[in-house]
Amino acid sequence: MAREKGMEQMLEDIRLETELTRGYTGYKQFSDAVMSAMAGVPRHRFVPEALQPFAYANGPLSIGYGQTISQPYIVALMTELLAVGTDSRVLEIGTGSGYQTAILSRLVARVYSMERVEPLAKVARERLSSLGYDNIEIRSGDGYLGWPEHAPYDGIIVTAAAPYIPDALTDQLRPGGRLVIPVGQSFGAQELLLIEKGSGNEFNTRKILPVAFVPLTPGTEE
Ligand code: SAH
Repeated sequence: MAREKGMEQMLEDIRLETELTRGYTGYKQFSDAVMSAMAGVPRHRFVPEALQPFAYANGPLSIGYGQTISQPYIVALMTELLAVGTDSRVLEIGTGSGYQTAILSRLVARVYSMERVEPLAKVARERLSSLGYDNIEIRSGDGYLGWPEHAPYDGIIVTAAAPYIPDALTDQLRPGGRLVIPVGQSFGAQELLLIEKGSGNEFNTRKILPVAFVPLTPGTEE
């Protein structure tokens, strides 16, 4: 009903924005796999009560602690850029609401996700488990350090803007793997980057799109 219409509208808005940004990204449309993952995750379950009417709008929304759930089009784009498959193991930095985690969970074998704000990690863990996602592990900690215990990853996705590319993340990528990361100033100019690791540890970096993410804040623990 209202929610199904909301989801239809969200998917349509993603398709439209994909066409509008084609000049930047090179994508005329996203893969069926990514679009059906987007269609399969109930975004309203990741959005605070007061913002329910906007759960399927194609924009970011506040989730508390000064953080946001990312815009659906950006979630779809970053997922597409990762180019992961059903056997992949992925690391996400910035669990937030767990929405991007849920999308990845539908597409890959296992998702490891790190969140600096402990209460957000806890809520996301409970939410994802109550929704039946069972191939996800969430840890609170500093994403600048990555999660070396499970490396190397087929893909790493960072959902907050870093001032530079953290070495730990490129180290923890397998040869042939991809890192999708917004890089730039806090609340200033940022670019979404796609970094591919070659077989000889060389990197190929492509600028994809100007973006606006909350900052990846430096960790203090450990
Ligand atoms: N993928 C999330 C987006 C959340 S916004 C979603 O769809 O809801 C980015 C998140 O990154 C925030 O929750 C923020 O707390 C987290 N974050 C910021 N700096 C971090 C760091 N150094 N390590 C881990 N998480 C961090």
